Amino acid sequence: MKALMLKAPNTPFELVNVPDPTPGPGEAVAKVLACGSGLTIQHVKAGRNKANFPLIIGHEITGEIVAIGAGVRGIKTGDAVTSYFYLNCGHCRWCLDKLEPLCEHSAGNIGRECDGGYAEYIKLPAPNFIKLPDELDYKAHPAEIGVITDALATPFKVLRRAQVKAGETVAVFGAGGGLGIHQLMLAKWAHARVIAVDTASNKFDACRKAGADDVVDASRGNVVEQIMELTKGRGVNVAVDYVSATVTLEAAVKSLGRKGRMVTLGGSGKSFQVAADRLLRYEQDVLGSRYVTRSEVIDTLKLVARGDVWPMVTDIRPLEQAEALHERIERGEVIGRAALLIG
Ligand SMILES: [Zn+2]
Repeated sequence: MKALMLKAPNTPFELVNVPDPTPGPGEAVAKVLACGSGLTIQHVKAGRNKANFPLIIGHEITGEIVAIGAGVRGIKTGDAVTSYFYLNCGHCRWCLDKLEPLCEHSAGNIGRECDGGYAEYIKLPAPNFIKLPDELDYKAHPAEIGVITDALATPFKVLRRAQVKAGETVAVFGAGGGLGIHQLMLAKWAHARVIAVDTASNKFDACRKAGADDVVDASRGNVVEQIMELTKGRGVNVAVDYVSATVTLEAAVKSLGRKGRMVTLGGSGKSFQVAADRLLRYEQDVLGSRYVTRSEVIDTLKLVARGDVWPMVTDIRPLEQAEALHERIERGEVIGRAALLIG
């Protein structure tokens, strides 16, 4: 099969021919139709996140099962599938409690610890394939359907984690990024008032299109003051920080009002300071959110199948143009998600 191989961190893709994968016991192989391209996998390519090189990256796939190994139940040849990003044990109390991102025996991630979707075929443990709902026209929109499993499901889970309610105000830091823009979309879907915070003013139109009622340009003045002005001094109910640098984390917490919830995910995961008296006096929560459960992927797929939301994929390319596409991702130029069309 053709595959985009990364021989080492911070090197260009090499389009190579490698043997087709064959499934062992408990595994399945899918033909890849499309695979999402975002900052998470660019961090791996650039060497900012550790991974098992040589490596095929990519974890947001639309595919069709072509072979199953011994003992596999629940999926069969011909099934249309997407992939679940984490390689979990399936047996620990967190996995059994439907909290599998917290697995105690995680073997890592697809496209990091094992080969991913930037190839004609992908082999995974069978539980890592999730069947697509029949209503999703995956053949017409493989790129959009592929990115649901992370770009859309991750912000969908944040709505639950932060218990976002209709009528609340949600501020999204890093709103112009691939996850941020889908968080705007989902917060709007949840009937919240949505404030987009970013420094990239060229992405503000897309933020408004995705659902932002207001936009805060973080490069122009104090972010907290701008948010307080927009909320008449009350602060927001929920602040979601996809940048998670010290400065954004501190601004996100300071922008909270009474009973406010701040959620950190993605980004650089740096330390930050919180005023304990505000946490106490206003009963605020500081929360972390880590990827999603498989059932949350299924719920998000259904949301798209019903036509409630639609993934924003703005740059779709063949395998041969992956390097140029990743250069755009590295420079932060892509609006929403990008994807490779493969099969
Ligand atoms: Zn587990």
